[in-house]
Amino acid sequence: MTWSVVSADDESTFDVDVPSGRVPTVDPAGAALALQEFVRAIETDDGPRAAAVAGADPSSQSLAVAVVDNASAAHIRDVSLRYIDSLGTTDAEGEWDAAVAVEWRYAGFDSVAASTETVVRFDFTGDGVRIVDLGGESLRSPIWLTDSLSVSRSKESLVLVASPELLDQYTRLSKRSVDTVARVLPEWDRRLVVEVPADRIALERALDVDAGEYQQIAAVAGSADGSVSVDSPVHVYVNAEVLGGLGKRGREVVLAHEAAHVAGDGPTSRAPTWLVEGFADYVALRDSPLPLDRTAAQVRERVRTDGLPAELPGASEFDTRGPHLGATYEAAWLVCQVLARKSGGSAVVELYKQVSSGGTLSGGLRRLFGWTEEDLVQAWQGTLAEL
Ligand SMILES: [Zn+2]
Repeated sequence: MTWSVVSADDESTFDVDVPSGRVPTVDPAGAALALQEFVRAIETDDGPRAAAVAGADPSSQSLAVAVVDNASAAHIRDVSLRYIDSLGTTDAEGEWDAAVAVEWRYAGFDSVAASTETVVRFDFTGDGVRIVDLGGESLRSPIWLTDSLSVSRSKESLVLVASPELLDQYTRLSKRSVDTVARVLPEWDRRLVVEVPADRIALERALDVDAGEYQQIAAVAGSADGSVSVDSPVHVYVNAEVLGGLGKRGREVVLAHEAAHVAGDGPTSRAPTWLVEGFADYVALRDSPLPLDRTAAQVRERVRTDGLPAELPGASEFDTRGPHLGATYEAAWLVCQVLARKSGGSAVVELYKQVSSGGTLSGGLRRLFGWTEEDLVQAWQGTLAEL
């Protein structure tokens, strides 16, 4: 069809081509209907119904069907998708991006729904609005909405991977991590969700962090929606490129470290970072320790170069892009080793719990170890000097 457009200035008219049946404007009401229909398709495990809401493009349709399959395999419940606002205007094809509020919960694992915003690409067609694409750079992109996943699910672990060939490996690793952590924290309810996005970019989008932030990170425990309330679901997210480059034992230690964060509510812990990170490594390594030349080589090198540190590692030293990240983690783990040698493993667990829930470090050290912070630093420096 062609529209005649009248210019207000000189009353001349000129013609513009408009694709048949399209009105080049965003349509929030139509988009809301499409989202509603998509949610019904997810709730009723109806792939064809989801495909019908997707655009004509086969990749749009297969993504919509994949989301339904993901939700079915992972027992995703309490899904809601709510149109918030457009992100810009329609392009020449009549498509536009919008921010959409998304909620979901992995049944059996998450006690409350995660709640975040993601990008959805809509297309205004002659017979209603279609969902063309899900996820994007500017907002969080949960992997179950943006990729076709392979899923394994048991009572204790839920594993979602974008690369099917990795499913068995991560299922085994997750099970082992649950066992490792439960030996140190027996009262943990043993619920571990591990998400393995396709690549680092998908990982960074799932966590809504800057590109490159997790370049050297093998895995991270974080809340599914970025919130830091105590109820928000905490899952383990894997950077498969980095983790896959480690040896078998290294992979086990990394995943157990992250599972320890899940069990110990790491993201909401009020303990200092050295205790949160040192404790997670303490849990991961306690039952099958590695030789010190594996677990303390970087900090030994650091001490040889720069001398003994005057203080326990500060939060900024744990920056994921920091130059001495490995040495900092090792130093934090050694603090917990020093504490365990002084008063035993259960005192370390108790200190972590008390300080995590708001108790003071000095009070915990005094009651459980008979130490001041100064005493701890001195004992730790002594251990570093002997490496
Ligand atoms: Zn950690």
